[in-house]
Amino acid sequence: GCGICVKKCPFEAISILNLPTNLSTHVTHRYAANAFKLHRLPTPRPGQVLGLVGTNGIGKSTALKVLSGKLKPNLGRYDDPPEWTEIIKYFRGSDLQNFFTKVLEDDIKAVTKPQYVDQIPRSIKVPNMTVGKMFDRQSEMDNRNQLEEDLELKHLQAREVSQLSGGELQRFAIAIASVRKADVYMFDEPSSYLDIRQRLAAARVIRGLVQPKNYIIVVEHDLSTLDYLSDFICVFYGVPGVYGVVTLPYSVREGINIFLDGMIPTENMRFREESLTFRIAETADENLAPNVRTLTYPNMTKTLGDFKLHVKSGQFSDSEIIVLLGENGMGKTTLVQLLGGKLKPDNEADQVSLRVSMKPQTISPKFPGSVRMLLLKRIKAMFMHPQFNSDVIKPMNLEGIIDQDVQTLSGGELQRVAICLVLGVPADVLLIDEPSAYLDSEQRIHASKVIKKFVMSSKRTAFIVEHDFIMATYLADKVIVFEGSPGKESWAGEPEGLLTGMNKFLKSLDITFRRDPTNYRPRINKNHSVLDHEQKSSGNYFFVE
Ligand code: ADP
Ligand code: ADP
Ligand code: MG
Ligand code: MG
Repeated sequence: GCGICVKKCPFEAISILNLPTNLSTHVTHRYAANAFKLHRLPTPRPGQVLGLVGTNGIGKSTALKVLSGKLKPNLGRYDDPPEWTEIIKYFRGSDLQNFFTKVLEDDIKAVTKPQYVDQIPRSIKVPNMTVGKMFDRQSEMDNRNQLEEDLELKHLQAREVSQLSGGELQRFAIAIASVRKADVYMFDEPSSYLDIRQRLAAARVIRGLVQPKNYIIVVEHDLSTLDYLSDFICVFYGVPGVYGVVTLPYSVREGINIFLDGMIPTENMRFREESLTFRIAETADENLAPNVRTLTYPNMTKTLGDFKLHVKSGQFSDSEIIVLLGENGMGKTTLVQLLGGKLKPDNEADQVSLRVSMKPQTISPKFPGSVRMLLLKRIKAMFMHPQFNSDVIKPMNLEGIIDQDVQTLSGGELQRVAICLVLGVPADVLLIDEPSAYLDSEQRIHASKVIKKFVMSSKRTAFIVEHDFIMATYLADKVIVFEGSPGKESWAGEPEGLLTGMNKFLKSLDITFRRDPTNYRPRINKNHSVLDHEQKSSGNYFFVE
């Protein structure tokens, strides 16, 4: 059986990339005729953190709504919805029976950190609501002080919620959900807008909510963060916007490896054609591709208001990816703009003149036409080129949105278009600021592969700002580490080897990583674990092979 239904489970018989389009069994919810349907449900367990992973539009938020009691599952009968007694009967024999019985008896209080934190200011009806006042209203437990500390909210108490930046809103939203007293805590994509240190802090806050009898469910696209915060994992697969299927629960390691692999062994189901592995040759320092060109930039300083960035001069070669590592406010975007000539250094004589193509961190399109028209206008030659089409446009999955108006695209869709554009513009140096923002974990896999392959085959150099650690380590040949105090003064080092650079960066964060033996993906060691102690005392914050 599938673990939910007591009957023999037909899911076992389905195989290999012929994702079924008309599944009729195990429907938990269907929005309307011919609308999206969700098959099965993730099964939360008391006292544990359940992690959910899967591409956008596959039903993760729908599952959260069902489990929080906000959406009554209709078992596919959108025109004749069943009563709760029947729903509970349907789940009889599974762990969900108990859960839904509590939902029915109104014995369960669920709190959700919503996916779209940008919408929070608009949803607050009280005018001039501040962070502090919101905490006064919502606090039901005595953890407010600690949360404000852990999530860097102390200095924002008097700030109006409408004035918060993306990262501040995210930390605020996580804290506001965590001061409530609830039986179920749900966090829908908590890492958006956060840097690595903040992602870890958020993960620790979420883990800190675990009680023997409560349920915690997290949807997360950053696989390192998901790995770090979950006790077990359900993977969603299917056809986005059409249907989604939830797998059985797996151990964290197994679940994430299944997701990266694109294959569910127990269901004999391949749901993605390619897998992602982290072969050492792809990431190690001794990557010996013959480089032909060497470019340099000088020592620079840049003062912006109260902030000062010092850049150590560096050199780089073609076919090389340099990842910029640093907390928010350390000047990563400032360095990108200096290299791109968008900002002048304090001493104008130091100005860099490179042939660059840039993807800015924030994308706000003003183009008044379709995606196709934009690509034809900006990168016609490449867009018409069969190689670029098969290496970039196709894997970035632009086909489905090619005739849509640029102005109507979602954040993730815009990001995919922007990545195609930055690669398509003729240049020696690609400057790519936070490509994973708004992308789901599946799109991050595609984007990483596309960028890496393109940089190598076109012999360009890329400077990439990236907080998703899995993506950053997959991409990086070298790294630039930022040290200092965010928003005040910081120092950008010269490009250095992945191993030494990562060691420096991770030491500043006080975390260590190991490699997964199956696909070599980086995994954060639990704080104070034996491995963590060993690696810290020997100075090997990154990998010990
Ligand atoms: P995810 O969180 O995995 O990105 P969602 O659960 O938000 O996915 O959505 C899954 C699919 O269901 C999407 O195609 C979405 O458009 C559709 N959907 C969500 N809510 C509704 C609704 N109220 N009515 C009809 N379709 C909906
Ligand atoms: P990162 O990309 O690492 O998050 P940024 O380069 O965007 O950092 O910003 C570094 C610091 O410089 C931040 O504290 C930011 O507020 C400040 N800053 C950026 N642009 C300006 C500006 N035009 N005037 C004053 N301060 C600025
Ligand atoms: Mg969602
Ligand atoms: Mg930035």
